[in-house]
Amino acid sequence: MACLADLFDRVAREGVEDDRLYRLLSACGRALKADPSNAIGILAYAEHWLLHCMGLLPHPRVCGRCGNETAPLVILSPEEGWCCSSCTPVDPLEALPTGSRGYLRNLRLRGAEAAPRVNPADEAQQAITALLRARLLQELGGGLRSYDVLWRSV
Ligand SMILES: [Zn+2]
Repeated sequence: MACLADLFDRVAREGVEDDRLYRLLSACGRALKADPSNAIGILAYAEHWLLHCMGLLPHPRVCGRCGNETAPLVILSPEEGWCCSSCTPVDPLEALPTGSRGYLRNLRLRGAEAAPRVNPADEAQQAITALLRARLLQELGGGLRSYDVLWRSV
């Protein structure tokens, strides 16, 4: 909850005035109240949609480089968005895990109350969550104390 409050406070101060932000905050608050045990999943959901509201998250349906709709996504490029394996050679160790496109799709299509539950065995979820969280915190300039507490407690 502290992370959500910090995020929304910071984004609002960045001057992003957007009804979607308030709808997102209210949806996340309701979801948290209904299922506190999924707090970390709901936080990842909120981070994804905040990036989207800030115009920083390209749509994952088509590759931003070649337009392919089915090949696995392998990187998120600052210039071209999500890029797929058919046009972007990437060391398999550095590529996004298989299932990343599906995980992003779940985040987009489900509501906050159905935010994917954290599953340490789901490599795509782990990688995408870390990627989007780092992107968002970078954009907000870091220094969110609630996240310092989060790192120490999960
Ligand atoms: Zn491609």
